[in-house]
Amino acid sequence: MDYCSCNDYYFRTLSGQGLCYHLGFAKEKISSKVDTVRFSDSEYYDFVRSVINDNYLMIRNETGDLA
Ligand SMILES: [Zn+2]
Repeated sequence: MDYCSCNDYYFRTLSGQGLCYHLGFAKEKISSKVDTVRFSDSEYYDFVRSVINDNYLMIRNETGDLA
């Protein structure tokens, strides 16, 4: 069962468009490398940055526009 807590996941799932980009990225890595799922340093950086950015946007949405 695939699950992610990001806004993208809820939006896409509720509208029937499939997985969020986190899960899509993970599945792509799994299918391209059957034996191991291994992030290169640059891929890992982009992945973590996307997760941090999601959380940052959620916090901003919850607390209002701080900028
Ligand atoms: Zn996600």
